[in-house]
This record gives sequence, structure tokens and C-alpha cells, in this order.
Amino acid sequence: MLLCDFHIHTTFSDGSIDLSKTIDIFGQAGFDVIAITDHVVNSDSTIGAFANRFNISLNDSTFDCYMRAIREEAERARKKYGMLVIPGVEISKNYLSNEKSAHLLILDIKEFIPADWSYEQIFLEAKRQKALTVACHPHAMSGMSKNTFFLWNNRERYAKYIDAWEVANRDDVFSVVGLKKYPYIANSDFHKARHIYSWKTLLNCEKDTSAVKNCIRDNRGVAITLFRN
Ligand code: ZN
Ligand code: ZN
Repeated sequence: MLLCDFHIHTTFSDGSIDLSKTIDIFGQAGFDVIAITDHVVNSDSTIGAFANRFNISLNDSTFDCYMRAIREEAERARKKYGMLVIPGVEISKNYLSNEKSAHLLILDIKEFIPADWSYEQIFLEAKRQKALTVACHPHAMSGMSKNTFFLWNNRERYAKYIDAWEVANRDDVFSVVGLKKYPYIANSDFHKARHIYSWKTLLNCEKDTSAVKNCIRDNRGVAITLFRN
């Protein structure tokens, strides 16, 4: 099965390791498929505006440079490690209220999507781009001061737009998400080198972007594993 991690941050947003070094860390650890998913943060709240002010969010003007860098590194990763690298973002709607906040991965993104758009607009645009949507850390996390409950609390309304849910994120397992039997994956939410040791996804499919997206969407041949040193 393919060893995968679909939730990885770099210095393009709030990660501590640059893109090239991140590719080498995952390549050397033997990963088959990874997605780079830097934050796109909303600007219609105080904490969202702060992230934009201090450049820990991608925006309309940095997105092209980000995509170009990922494409170049993906080519290097393919030749050097035989590793598939998928471009993505983490749409981050950050508010003081945990109930109002939500994070959403968009995998195989092609064009910039602002986090200030409504959920319906974001989901429809992701679909237009044939990208995959993943609700991140949808339930209570152990190590975080902030939680992002909005998508889980409003799942009756939004589940039809969401291709998969994180059933595990770094050290946390969200058993309620698994019990609901939604399509699931597990990711590191990588910000620092030690975060590579965390929950991961195994996929039984070909190592190409459309096969990976179909496998996650169908959620057959999917398993999670705790990747440890
Ligand atoms: Zn997040
Ligand atoms: Zn994240």
C-alpha cells in the first residue's frame, strides 16, 4: 500500500521547514504520496487579519509562486524518491469561537480560492477544479488551544460536499468521525520535523493523482497507521 500524508505545511505559511527540505524529509522517510497544504486564512476576523498581516497565509499574489515551487519540487521528488507530490491548500476560517472556526484541505488545487468566500462557494469552486475536499481536525484536539468544530457541528448541511474527513490528525484520533462512517484519512498536520511521527494514511491504488483522489473519495482500500521512528 502507498504510505501517504495529505496535510503538510511549509514556510509558505506557518510551517518551520522550507518546501525543499520538507520534500527531502518525506522522500528519505520512504513516503509514496504527499500533499503540500499551506494555509489560506480568512481576513474577516481579528485573528484571521493577523495571519494575513504577518504573511502566514497564502494570498492571491503569492499563490502562483507557491504553485510553481511545488511543481518544480514535485518533479525533483519524482526523480529522486519516486514520490508523488500533490499541490493543495488548507482553507482556514479562524475566529475566536471554536464553533465558528473550520479548516478544510483542498487537494489538487489549480487556482487560488479565497478563505473569505462562503462554504458553498468554496465547495463549488473546488469541485469545478476537480479538487478533493477534506475536513481537517473536525473534533476536539488534545494539544491545541484552538478547535475547529464548525464543519462537524454542521455536517448535516455540508457532508455532501466533503470528500473525506480526518479521522486522525497528528496524535489525535476522532472516534466519533469514524463511527459516523464518513470517508476518512489520517494526516500529520506537519509543521515541524518531529511531526512526521504521527497518524498516516495507507492507500491501495496506483501512484498517480487521479487514482489517489478516487481511492480517497470511494474510501475503499484505505487504512490508517501510526508512523513511528
Ligand atoms: Zn488546521
Ligand atoms: Zn494544518
